[in-house]
Amino acid sequence: MTILAIDFETANERRDSACAVGLAWIAEGGVVRRESRLIRPPELRFAPGNIRVHGIVPADVRGQPDFPAVMAEFLPDLTRGLILAHNAPFDLGVLRAGLSAYGLPVPAFSYLCTLQIARQVFPDPAGCGLGKVAARLGIRFAHHDAGEDAYACAEIALAAMRRTGAADVAGLTRVLPLQVTTLPPGPALPRYRPAGAGSLAARALSAARRDAAPEAERLRFAVRGSTGNRYEVALEERPLGLYLRCSCPAGRNRRRCRHVDAMVDGDVTDLISRNFADVERLRQLIAGAPAGHRIEPERVRRVQAA
Ligand SMILES: [Zn+2]
Repeated sequence: MTILAIDFETANERRDSACAVGLAWIAEGGVVRRESRLIRPPELRFAPGNIRVHGIVPADVRGQPDFPAVMAEFLPDLTRGLILAHNAPFDLGVLRAGLSAYGLPVPAFSYLCTLQIARQVFPDPAGCGLGKVAARLGIRFAHHDAGEDAYACAEIALAAMRRTGAADVAGLTRVLPLQVTTLPPGPALPRYRPAGAGSLAARALSAARRDAAPEAERLRFAVRGSTGNRYEVALEERPLGLYLRCSCPAGRNRRRCRHVDAMVDGDVTDLISRNFADVERLRQLIAGAPAGHRIEPERVRRVQAA
């Protein structure tokens, strides 16, 4: 049986926002293959907290393949094999949500959670987080790199196998009170739609219309241009809809520019003003415009270019 560990990093709080995956295959008592890939998530919205954990920024994944393209190579092994993951419900959730987001069928997956294994075989008052268990076992790895995390997860399973005398990793279920979990096939989530299209954003926008657009007036972003110049992107309410005005030369000539594109994408790489929450507000305004006035990102660009 194929046994492989998997680890995902995500761009934001959504399970379908995988931006990196790492895998490590186990055979004959050791790790025999390691892979890691960057993934372009459905939207380039990176939460600052996630960036702090894994260090991946939108510019790293902008040109990378999307989830189905990256995972196609690994799905045969994941489908017929036994998956290991540390806190597996998270990683299996990302795997299933990533497929669902692109309207792909979600096959059955079988897994063992190395967090559960570690709690039984290597208990410690300090806890059994991946970094802590790996440190106790002398596993050297760079935490929060997906490939490294998958490798550490595999090594924890191997250490548990040796400690318990199990014949192999799958045999841990015969020596521990532990069962393989098999998730049935089926969609994990409805097909992808941008976050924030709810009533809060709609209320914010209608309030903005009623009160001479105070919401729009507050949304200003200072961005760093490619030559180091500082430009300002400001949201304005216009008769045709939302309008993002940029102070760069292209923006002043009413041409679409990369600074506006970045704000629409939620790409905060060059955001000097660091008002990350306002980037989220902007995205909610774009996604949550009331029916009949729905403004897609492309529409913002067209309006800006008009
Ligand atoms: Zn610009």
